[in-house]
Amino acid sequence: MSTTITEECINCGACEPECPNTAIYEGGAPWDYEGKSNAAISEEIYYIVPQKCTECVGFFDQEQCAAVCPVDCCVANPDDPETEEQLVAKARVIHPDRSFDGEVPSRFSKG
Ligand code: SF4
Repeated sequence: MSTTITEECINCGACEPECPNTAIYEGGAPWDYEGKSNAAISEEIYYIVPQKCTECVGFFDQEQCAAVCPVDCCVANPDDPETEEQLVAKARVIHPDRSFDGEVPSRFSKG
């Protein structure tokens, strides 16, 4: 499932630079994907674009936004379940210049 930011967000901005997929945007800011600019998903708080979120699969073994958020409001979205394979496939689309073959860093392989 992609990660989502709850309304507990205090707009500190700590998460945005940590995302390997540039999936996090400040409230009100348009988001970009495949060369297209899209309307902000939230006007008030930071938000994560589901199409761009791989839960850090392919890069880290923990969601980096959740790791830095001071109020623990970066959480898994239970309404958007995705398998590790689906998340790796997403990473390949977002980063066509990188290889994600073999074992990749993933929260699924933790513990
Ligand atoms: Fe909001 Fe947490 Fe991101 Fe700070 S780190 S902007 S509180 S989601």
